[in-house]
Amino acid sequence: MTGPVLHRERAVIALGSNLGDREATLRSAVAELAATEGIRLLAASGLVETPAVTLEGVDRTAPAYLNAVVIAQTTLAPLTLLDALARIEDAHGRVREQRWGDRTLDLDLIALDDLELMTERLTLPHPRAHERAFVLVPWLQADPDATLPGHGAVRELLAALNDGDVSHVEAEPLLAPGVGPR
Ligand code: ATP
Ligand code: MG
Ligand code: MG
Repeated sequence: MTGPVLHRERAVIALGSNLGDREATLRSAVAELAATEGIRLLAASGLVETPAVTLEGVDRTAPAYLNAVVIAQTTLAPLTLLDALARIEDAHGRVREQRWGDRTLDLDLIALDDLELMTERLTLPHPRAHERAFVLVPWLQADPDATLPGHGAVRELLAALNDGDVSHVEAEPLLAPGVGPR
């Protein structure tokens, strides 16, 4: 007899904040992810800073973003994981007024293994990740061999983007207490 099959999938989660104490928010979001049932953090990036992108394009008058990426193992179903991310966003006072408006915390699911999904609530891989240096740069820090399903090696995607708008703020991985590097 076989035991229950426990699927452990690899999730890539992008974090961003451009309001309030951005670093404290991102660090606490990482700790909250680590404390979520069904999520185990495997690796994390440091912190990068990038100018805000609004519907009008890059806006250097808007507060800049701090971004990070964490890689996790999860037993949660895709929508359950999305709900968990939304709960953490809400706990940090995320309001949704204007698309791509300023926010205390954005948690996006970039990829879940090589799952391809296109539903009303969830598209995987994240449809804009491949063109965002603020996702790809920290992702590469967390996983130097990262590949984006359907798009290829993150290192090559990033080289093709040639986006110089990313500055490195914190090189040390943002791992929550009790979570060690791989
Ligand atoms: P962008 O998706 O361009 O980064 P955003 O992060 O500002 O924009 P949100 O307001 O955070 O957008 O999310 C809008 C909706 O996007 C969410 O309610 C969620 O249902 C949906 N969504 C679809 N695919 C994803 C995904 N891969 N990760 C996170 N949210 C997603
Ligand atoms: Mg986003
Ligand atoms: Mg989002």
